[in-house]
Amino acid sequence: MALPLRRRAAPAAQRGAFRSVSMALYKYSNYLQQSKNASFDLPLQPSAFVPCAGIYRCTGCGTEVALEGIGMFPDRSHHAHSPAQGPIAWQLVVATSSTVPAPYLHGGT
Ligand SMILES: [Zn+2]
Repeated sequence: MALPLRRRAAPAAQRGAFRSVSMALYKYSNYLQQSKNASFDLPLQPSAFVPCAGIYRCTGCGTEVALEGIGMFPDRSHHAHSPAQGPIAWQLVVATSSTVPAPYLHGGT
């Protein structure tokens, strides 16, 4: 059985003043491909529709969630923020791809 991953802190240059402690991890870079898709730039609100399956990061605190490309983002009660962290907003970090028909496919590269 695999041991739980130990999360390392993000390099200081990648953390904002109130950023959280960790970043998404991967082992094999051949399973990831960089994308310039504007979907990665959009801050998405709690309870909004999830536009594509993937890993999303809260822009206020760095909390990450993995979501299918169906349904809604967690509501505002998902986790607590200090006033300095601002409101919860979700930003796409990793979009998943699949051979399974929509809604699991990412909508473009
Ligand atoms: Zn947060």
